[in-house]
Amino acid sequence: MKKLLGHDAIVMVTRILAGGVGVLLLLIGLAILIMPEVVSTMFLSLSTGGAGVNSLRADLGALFLGMAVFTLLGAFSRFRWLLLIPATFLSLVVGGRVISMLLDPFPTRTAGTLVVEILFVLVLCLAVLSHALSGKDRKRPDALSAIGSRRFLIAAGIVVVLLGGLFLMRPAISTRLWNSGVAGRQQQSTIDGLPDGLHVGLAGTGAPMPDSQRVGISTFVIAGEHQFIVDCGPGSTLNNELMQLPLEETTAVLLTHFHSDHIADLDELMLKIWTYGARTEPTLVMGPVGVETVVEGYNQAFSFDTGYRIAHHGDAVAPASGAGGVARVIDGFGDDESVVIFDQDGVRVTAFLVSHKPVEPALGFRFDYKGRSVVLSGDTLPDQTLMAQSEGVDILVHDAMNPDMLDAMTRASEVSGEAVAGTVATDIQTYHAFAEETARIARDAGVRHLVLNQILPPLPFSILHPAFLGDARRYYDGPITVSRDGMLFSLPADSDEINARWLLY
Ligand SMILES: [Zn+2]
Ligand SMILES: [Zn+2]
Repeated sequence: MKKLLGHDAIVMVTRILAGGVGVLLLLIGLAILIMPEVVSTMFLSLSTGGAGVNSLRADLGALFLGMAVFTLLGAFSRFRWLLLIPATFLSLVVGGRVISMLLDPFPTRTAGTLVVEILFVLVLCLAVLSHALSGKDRKRPDALSAIGSRRFLIAAGIVVVLLGGLFLMRPAISTRLWNSGVAGRQQQSTIDGLPDGLHVGLAGTGAPMPDSQRVGISTFVIAGEHQFIVDCGPGSTLNNELMQLPLEETTAVLLTHFHSDHIADLDELMLKIWTYGARTEPTLVMGPVGVETVVEGYNQAFSFDTGYRIAHHGDAVAPASGAGGVARVIDGFGDDESVVIFDQDGVRVTAFLVSHKPVEPALGFRFDYKGRSVVLSGDTLPDQTLMAQSEGVDILVHDAMNPDMLDAMTRASEVSGEAVAGTVATDIQTYHAFAEETARIARDAGVRHLVLNQILPPLPFSILHPAFLGDARRYYDGPITVSRDGMLFSLPADSDEINARWLLY
């Protein structure tokens, strides 16, 4: 009798524990559905690009919710063996994690997660076993019999041997993968697959504050046969390349102004435009008064490297005449504070003055090609010239920030005693537009699609986007995109289509 009671107690405890595991899995699954970036960053040590978020929500969400359903069903019904389903999935998760640790032994935060997962498997298996041994299962469940069968054990043994063999052969496998991958690699660039039209690529959409989703500001514009790179913030050249932009085909680099977050990658960018195309003329860099100083400074700073490249590679890669950049000042603004700086092959580029004091002059750019148009604001407060230039454009890319979020940062900085950080968070509000203000500009100018970039403060999770936008959607009916690195907007010639897709994953 006493023994039986003990058994019943064990069955009850393991059942409650299994139910707890089910509730936890359910909560994790729901959290992944609602805010995949938060869960992945905080609990799973994953970084997430745009497509990554989609897969996280779909694949990982489904895994956890599926496991939760079977765990809860197993814990709260007579069919306790149902717990073997989540236990199997969790065992595979544990297996995958162990393989990862063997292949990439760099320490991560996943060790704790592994322990929890093993505990979950044990709890689920104990619940099934205690229930089966308690005699409540008159008939041994088929699932249990199957797992105990010789055939199953042989199959499991074969899988383990195969996995072990693959693990030992991994140098040969990875070499083979590399060689076949390199041989099969298409030399196709983003441009090759694009239709004739105007295309805007957001290679960098961040501000000086670090943001796991955004590097320094940079936007490329492809218009017919011509390609422009507007600004080149820190890290943006690599992103331009990851988006498969053929840097060597750049017609000109355009600078809106000389804040570091807009020019810090200029040296790297000029070097790659030069060497990737073995160009014999320096990169054309156009910008406001002062651009000569900036370009000359970078030419100077890179003069040693330029010498190494010429000596090492010779004319086939690095013809001496093509090194560095040549500056062209944008001036001669008309009464409307704008000037056409490029007009060729149906492509017209207009520069105009914006409000970014004490940075003067600071520019925005408008691109027109075959009936399509794009305005890039650069850094600015709400500005009348920009409003006039944005009249009826397909896409307005505007810098944006949220003052309330920045104020919260200021208050947090005061509490933690970081006075400088607090002052910067306050100061930057005097020369950038609020998200809601950009929505009013888009509405008044009849813009078709508003894209916000140079996002301030950093927004690592998309669940923060509504807070960032505030009442913006009340002012503007059209689509608003809070940009992230890797977005491409395509405007096919002579149409009214606006197509968007990701080029970074
Ligand atoms: Zn600026
Ligand atoms: Zn800026």
